[in-house]
Amino acid sequence: MARLRARLAGSNNALARGLLMLLSSDRLDDETWEDFEDTLLTSDMGVGPTTELVEKLRTRLRVEGISEPSAATAVLREELIALVDPSLDRDLHADRSGELPGVLMVVGVNGTGKTTTCGKLARVLVAENKDVLLGAADTFRAAAADQLETWGGRVGVPTVRGAEGADPASVAFDAVTAGIEQEVDVVVVDTAGRLHTKTGLMDELGKIRRVIEKKAPVGEVLLVLDATTGQNGLTQARVFAQEIGITGIVLTKLDGSAKGGIVIQVQRELGVPVKLIGLGEGVDDLAPFDPAAFVDALLE
Ligand code: GDP
Repeated sequence: MARLRARLAGSNNALARGLLMLLSSDRLDDETWEDFEDTLLTSDMGVGPTTELVEKLRTRLRVEGISEPSAATAVLREELIALVDPSLDRDLHADRSGELPGVLMVVGVNGTGKTTTCGKLARVLVAENKDVLLGAADTFRAAAADQLETWGGRVGVPTVRGAEGADPASVAFDAVTAGIEQEVDVVVVDTAGRLHTKTGLMDELGKIRRVIEKKAPVGEVLLVLDATTGQNGLTQARVFAQEIGITGIVLTKLDGSAKGGIVIQVQRELGVPVKLIGLGEGVDDLAPFDPAAFVDALLE
C-alpha cells in the first residue's frame, strides 16, 4: 500500500490534486463540474465512465445534501471504487492441476513491458513458494530471450529458449514439456509482439496457444498494456481481446503516468479485469491490482 502510494505519487497525484481542489471549491457550479470532467478525461478514464461518474456524483451530493469537501471526497472515493468494479475476479489462475503445471501466456505489443513483466511475475510466484519456469517464445526480437534469461537468473528460475528465429510455438511447447518433466508449478510463456504484422502475430499467438494446449491447459492469457499509451494502447488491446481472447490485463508503467484512469476505461472496453500493475523497472515492481488501494493512492 505504502509502496503503491509512493510510486503513484507525483504522477497520478496531479489527478488527485485536481479532483480534490475542484471538490473543495466554494461553489460546485457548472463550470467547476466541467473542469472536474476535463480532469478525469485527461487521466484517460474515457468519456463513458467519466460522464457516468460525474452524473452519479452530482446527484449524490445534491440528494444527500453534501457540500463539505471531505464528505464529497468520501463519495468520490466510493464511486471510483464502484467504477473499478471490486467484484471482478482478479486472482491468477495458474495452479498446478494433477501432473500438469499452470501455464500463463503473456502477450502484448513490443515495448509495453512484456518481458519485464514475465520476470517480475516469476518473482511474485516464487514468493508464493511456487516453482516457476520461463519460456522465451519471443524468438523474433533478437535480445528478448537473453533479456528473459537475465530475469530468470535474477529471480532464480530456469528459462527455456530456442535459437533466434526458431518457431515460437515449438519453443513454447518445449518450455511446457520441460515444466512437466521438472514438475514445476507454473510455466510463464513470453511471446512476440511485433505490431506491423498484426495478422501474422495473432496467428502466431493462436498457434502457440494450441500447441501449448497439447500438453497442458493455458490458465491465463495476460495482456500487457502500457498505461502511458492511451487510445493507441486501447486499440491494440481490442485486437488482442478479439483475436486471441485474454483473461486478464497487466497495466505497466503506472509509476510514470498521470493516466491512472486508463484502468477504468480498459476494463470497461474489454470486459476483462486488470489483475496486476507495473510500478517500475525493478524486480519487486509488480503488484496485484487492488481497487480500493488504487483509488486511495489516486486520492492521496
Ligand atoms: P517488451 O518489448 O514488451 O517485452 O518490453 P520490455 O519488457 O522490454 O520493457 C520495455 C521497457 O519498459 C523496459 O525499459 C522496461 O524496463 C520498461 N518497463 C517495463 N515495465 C515497467 C513499469 O511498470 N514501469 C516502468 N517505469 N518501466 C517499465
